[in-house]
Amino acid sequence: MTAIIELKDIKKVYCTGAVEVPALKGVSLKIEAGDFVAIMGASGSGKSTLLHILGLLDKPSEGKYHIAGKDTSNLNDNQLAALRNEYLGFVFQSFNLLARFNAHENVLLPVIYATGEKKNISEKAEQLLGKVGLSARMKHKPNELSGGQQQRVAVARSLINDPLVIFADEPTGNLDSKSAMEIIDLLKELNASGITIVMVTHEPDLAEAARRTIRLQDGLVVSDESKHSLKKHPKEDASGMKASHHAPLNFYRAKNYVTEAMRSLYSNKTRTFLSVLGVLIGVAGLIAMLALGTGAREETKKQMSRLGSNLLMVRASHGSRGGVSLEAGATVKLTLDDVQAIRENVSSVQRIVPYASGRGQAVYGSNNANTRVDGTSPDYEFTRNSTPESGRFFTQEEMRSRAKVALIGKTVERALFENQNPLGEFIKINRTDFLVIGVLPAKGSSGWRDEDDKIIIPVNTAMYRLLGQDSINNMDVQIKEGADMDEASDQIKKLLLGMRRMGPDKNDLIDIRNIADIQETISATMNIFSMLLGSIAFISLLVGGIGIMNIMLVSVTERTKEIGLRKSLGANSGDIMFQFMLESIVVCLLGGTMGIILGATTAVMLAVFAGWKTIVSASSVILSFAFSAIIGFIFGTWPAKKAADLSPIEALRYE
Ligand code: ADP
Ligand code: MG
Repeated sequence: MTAIIELKDIKKVYCTGAVEVPALKGVSLKIEAGDFVAIMGASGSGKSTLLHILGLLDKPSEGKYHIAGKDTSNLNDNQLAALRNEYLGFVFQSFNLLARFNAHENVLLPVIYATGEKKNISEKAEQLLGKVGLSARMKHKPNELSGGQQQRVAVARSLINDPLVIFADEPTGNLDSKSAMEIIDLLKELNASGITIVMVTHEPDLAEAARRTIRLQDGLVVSDESKHSLKKHPKEDASGMKASHHAPLNFYRAKNYVTEAMRSLYSNKTRTFLSVLGVLIGVAGLIAMLALGTGAREETKKQMSRLGSNLLMVRASHGSRGGVSLEAGATVKLTLDDVQAIRENVSSVQRIVPYASGRGQAVYGSNNANTRVDGTSPDYEFTRNSTPESGRFFTQEEMRSRAKVALIGKTVERALFENQNPLGEFIKINRTDFLVIGVLPAKGSSGWRDEDDKIIIPVNTAMYRLLGQDSINNMDVQIKEGADMDEASDQIKKLLLGMRRMGPDKNDLIDIRNIADIQETISATMNIFSMLLGSIAFISLLVGGIGIMNIMLVSVTERTKEIGLRKSLGANSGDIMFQFMLESIVVCLLGGTMGIILGATTAVMLAVFAGWKTIVSASSVILSFAFSAIIGFIFGTWPAKKAADLSPIEALRYE
């Protein structure tokens, strides 16, 4: 006969604060393979403490414990977990079934932590449930089973990995006497098949079933009686017991972890939804804001490129700066003479287009449109890519003669003419008749302005017949290909100031900008804007993450007992860590996916209903998805670590 269990002078002292409680004061005993041992004693005598040490759930403070000839003090936590999983089975007083799993799934629970893949394991679980008389109850959840039935599920669970020893701590403590006897009979039957049984009980009737009875009192063995000598052959030679390394992560286990994470999230729907919500809102915000930013950027880029990069925009500065009026006479007005002078004196100028703009009331028949009226020159057609869609542009001659001809934008055309052909018709602009000679090509909207809501007329006509002014508002100067923009700008400024006998100190009165400058200003503004929006989204994601951490911490506390159970069944710290991390990451990815959908929908809605240009880029989707996974990882780590670090026995004890 081999002693499967050998204790030498085991002591266990619990330290609760400053007080030291000695629970075992020097226990030495041997248990043979194939035996059925009852441990008896009054409450508080140390029975559970002893059983936990025997079951490798707790470590002694002093003394030596050999299991199957192996010194357990040399084994690390992972090896102990692997030993528990492979060779030991546990039956607890309070059954410790997982409420969200049915009987069959509860029996299968230890398999996740087993080394290697088990063949036909589902059928084996069914057979074991049949063996404990629960064939008809396989799909029932624990709360649909009686106490006796639950404990039989627990016995079946302890058998799934073919243990050498089963440890049972008051397995009948919560049962009526009839169910209690059934459980004891079951244990006897298992013992007859060769499994070593160590059972704690304080009822002499139940201890009767055992061959050997050990009595404890105040942490010491006070009696040790055997009814007859042990004749049975143990089921297996215990010397084959190996402290195997924990099973590496394989597909079967990974699949199980994911399913478990999903189920535990599903069984707490409200909580999961609330955790998801934070990340969902953050990601939706991120996606929508990135879509707006990208859309706006693309749109301005498109507009700018339409204008061309060799354009200078010349304006007279307003008479005030920062709200303070400049000294009298310090304002500048641009005129057509300036245009002529620049054309003649600055050699790098290719085209120059003046603008005299105002608003006008356009009338055709009974139709009205209040619109922008730009007086300009024929070169406008080329600097602004505005070759008429139908009809023609006005000529130099028409400009000089202040002809009353007009080109109308698509929006104006729709408002005044509906489906009629406008060419050759007369419209009134501020009560003056104009002949419509062309329709401008559609330009779409630029931000908030409808570029098709305008009328183009010759600049002289605008100044003298419509607006009653002898100056222009601004001009576009197109510089020849390859010429230096800055140099041209300086020349123009010097010329305009010189014509007014002003020195370089009045430089500020003339404002010349090129497209690149404007583009730079716009993109700098947009960058600040994007960063602001981005950081708001980022902060809400962070808040979402903290929410997740909070809920995960609650979940860990609430499931302390489950963690204890899993550890007793052979889960090591890594398994528990992985399980909780996975839950946190799944929650975040769920929130991330829903957030991406919501954010993209919002972006589309903004485009359709508000008319804002939005672009949901693939990179923003990938970024958000990755971000939510990272949030789950970061904020799940601490709760998961907390769960993983629980000692199995403290966790099992937790109420
Ligand atoms: P039994 O199972 O025989 O009722 P236990 O082994 O549970 O006895 O407890 C033995 C002694 O150790 C008791 O005095 C108990 O209060 C004490 N004890 C058990 N567990 C702890 C613990 N985790 N911390 C402090 N004291 C404990
Ligand atoms: Mg106890």
